[in-house]
Amino acid sequence: MATFAPPLQENQANHPPITAKKLLINNQWVDAESGKTFPTLNPSTGELICEVAEADKPDVERAVRAARKAFDGGPWRKMSGAERGRLMNRLADLIEANADDLARLESLDNGKPYNVARAADLKLTIACYRYYAGWADKQQGKTIPVNGNYFCYTRHEPVGVVGQIIPWNFPLLMQAWKLGPALATGNTVVMKPAEQTPLTALRVGELIVEAGFPEGVVNLLPGYGPTAGSAIAHHMDIDKVAFTGSTEVGHLIMKASAESNLKRVTLELGGKSPNIVFADADMDAAIEGSHFALFFNQGQCCCAGSRLFVEEKCYDEFVERSVARARRRTVGDPFDSRTEQGPQVDQDQLDKVLGYIRSGVSQGANLLCGGERVGDKGYFVAPTVFGDVQDNMTIAQEEIFGPVMSIIKFRDMNEVIQRANNTIYGLAAAVWTKDIGKAHAIANNVRAGTVWVNCYDVFDAAAPFGGFKQSGIGRELGEYGLQNYTEIKTVTVKL
Ligand code: NAP
Ligand code: MG
Repeated sequence: MATFAPPLQENQANHPPITAKKLLINNQWVDAESGKTFPTLNPSTGELICEVAEADKPDVERAVRAARKAFDGGPWRKMSGAERGRLMNRLADLIEANADDLARLESLDNGKPYNVARAADLKLTIACYRYYAGWADKQQGKTIPVNGNYFCYTRHEPVGVVGQIIPWNFPLLMQAWKLGPALATGNTVVMKPAEQTPLTALRVGELIVEAGFPEGVVNLLPGYGPTAGSAIAHHMDIDKVAFTGSTEVGHLIMKASAESNLKRVTLELGGKSPNIVFADADMDAAIEGSHFALFFNQGQCCCAGSRLFVEEKCYDEFVERSVARARRRTVGDPFDSRTEQGPQVDQDQLDKVLGYIRSGVSQGANLLCGGERVGDKGYFVAPTVFGDVQDNMTIAQEEIFGPVMSIIKFRDMNEVIQRANNTIYGLAAAVWTKDIGKAHAIANNVRAGTVWVNCYDVFDAAAPFGGFKQSGIGRELGEYGLQNYTEIKTVTVKL
């Protein structure tokens, strides 16, 4: 059984005072027009951290007006790419200077271990802003030879006012993935953080103002999806919406665009990523890597290796050692340095994960460890491993988004490729093998936006990420990530 350190009483005292709890519109911190607020809870205890202003449709109106004005006529529009890059680097510096406090706040609001937030989320967030700061003065079109006596060239122009709706699993990092390319290319932004985790996005809002971004460039609207989020998705004066979250809501975002102004849509949605282990793999690396692939971030990763295909020849050894590793996983207080796994983000996610575990048991999968809630306070789930999982079971088809590993047996390459592709998703995949031929066969034939070979969850701001099939539309990160934030304009001049 995984050890469990009960939440420390002083848990909440560990974080800096929370100063940003309102809406950021036009560089002003304002209450919602309705005056309403909503609670954000500490997932380790279920207790209130603080109330936050709750944006709704009228606040979206205000924010879009500010963003439109900043885009059409503000100083942002006239700023050079180099100056925009300088502001973004200043923001990165401020985040770095406040990294400990931001990691504490992230850990408090989301439940992820502080050490992980500090080492992974903050590091990647800072790198993302710096990476895109570097692109800000490199937005350039082409000169194109055309028939006749004409000079033809293209300009890469910002799309305009961009709506961005982000999830709760990596609040700071998802904010950076969205703001980085949008600001580098000169757009203005109306962003809604997830209702479970608004605090770090708002703290970054303070740093955005401190860095000197002009008013109206970044507007932050904490609130709920069906109200504020839907108002963004339907707004007639928002030119593009970028969304990360569930595939179900992704469909709604696209529908809202079709029903309103055909705003450009990019989506980063769910996954059910195949993680394929061949018997010739370095077993120690494959077992630890597959453990990380599934359990990292409490299992709350869109690209989690949640269909773990293991070759028959090494299946028994792999399962036994994976169960032993899961039993050793330390679950408990996110501020305890021994903790590997904190709580799920909220009661809904806890209930959802436990529901999937029940479905695995009732459909005949072999529950090898875990399977229940840990403690009676907060939203902790014991690291869970199912063996003998069949492709048609619900736990092998739907995104669980929790610490539940499903191990599936396979015989040969062609069979596993076909089974790996038998899903509506196509976000990520991985293969563990020493045979370069097998590695490339998987990389070339599994339909997924990212394939990791003998590694998992290796992210870099320069490497694009996104999904095939219902895992999304478009790519984030890297040079490819810029394409979603520019319109191409063709200019033809008679000579
Ligand atoms: P979700 O509802 O898709 O949340 C993502 C974001 O979309 C949040 O900001 C949410 O607002 C907003 N939203 C919700 N309904 C909306 C609507 N009708 N119009 C516009 N925006 C809307 O996801 P969830 O309910 O938090 O989690 C459910 C499942 O989604 C998870 O179990 C997991 O399978 C998947 N998920 C995937 C990712 C990912 O990285 N791809 C991230 C999170 C969740 P609220 O704050 O009000 O929810
Ligand atoms: Mg919270």
